[in-house]
Amino acid sequence: MWQSVQGHDAVVEQFRGTLAAGRLATTYLFVGPEGIGKRAFALQLAKALLCTASDPTQLEPCGRCESCVLAAAGNHPDVLLIKRQAGTKFLKVEQFIGPQERRNQEGLCHDISLRPMLGRRRVAIIDDADWFTPESANCLLKTLEEPPPGAVIILLGTSRSRQLLTIISRSQVIRFQPLPDDVLSSLILTAGIVDNAAAAEELAARSHGSLTLARQLADAALWQMRDRFAAQWLSGELDAPRLAREVDEFINAAGKEADARRQRFRQLLNLVAAKLSESLRQLAAEGRPADATLAAIDRCLEAEEQLDRNANQSTLLESWIDDLATCQVQAKVAAR
Ligand SMILES: [Zn+2]
Repeated sequence: MWQSVQGHDAVVEQFRGTLAAGRLATTYLFVGPEGIGKRAFALQLAKALLCTASDPTQLEPCGRCESCVLAAAGNHPDVLLIKRQAGTKFLKVEQFIGPQERRNQEGLCHDISLRPMLGRRRVAIIDDADWFTPESANCLLKTLEEPPPGAVIILLGTSRSRQLLTIISRSQVIRFQPLPDDVLSSLILTAGIVDNAAAAEELAARSHGSLTLARQLADAALWQMRDRFAAQWLSGELDAPRLAREVDEFINAAGKEADARRQRFRQLLNLVAAKLSESLRQLAAEGRPADATLAAIDRCLEAEEQLDRNANQSTLLESWIDDLATCQVQAKVAAR
């Protein structure tokens, strides 16, 4: 059953030992780079803990009981999943304790306190744990301190250093290693990212053990576009009309399908935001002002949200690039 989660046998054994000793913790924080299978592992662990036909200490879900079938379909009523909503930067208070008008009657903290529907416990998986605000983390703390009986809460983040201390101090941290090259190359083939073993091996060697990175690297054009974008941003002289034309051509080259173009636009927004975040760290290290970069990252996230709401592609593209150019101009004015 664990074949679906490759490359993390040591962690499987660690959990088997924990369960055999009856020492399952309530809160786990999984950390490791993006795209190495932490989410798949958490889902598989939830499935194993909830299987009604096998001994949970063995961590071998039967795959046939109602619980296993629902878990495999992503429909298990006792598995609660949350992640950042599309286009938002942080996990929101509402996702934990419900909207203002239904405080403590909805949200993860409420849902996990309910009696399990099928099995002996409820399992919550909180994706994007790098993106708590102090407020949203606060909402979760009471649940972490006084968890409902049997509940298991799994947080997924990229590194320990990106977590709030209030969360770390209440979690058991489990480190996930990047995937070994041979495992990654077989995953690349299975996922159809490339179509032959030699190309898969070459791609795996450049992907730092991450399937996500492999997917992105496989699209060289996307990478080049991001670099062109980054170079213009860093030069401080963003040529908005020209860049908009280039990006428009690039997005349209994704094909006739609106979905394919939208997907490519989204990937570019994502990569540009990630690149800007990188330069943010650099600016902070050098003690230089970062307002323009912060505003630009926000604008990328906003554009992603607008894209999800089916905004017109060319209008959105132009206003996005214009706004980034404006961010630069304002920063220059402020610096004078
Ligand atoms: Zn089962």
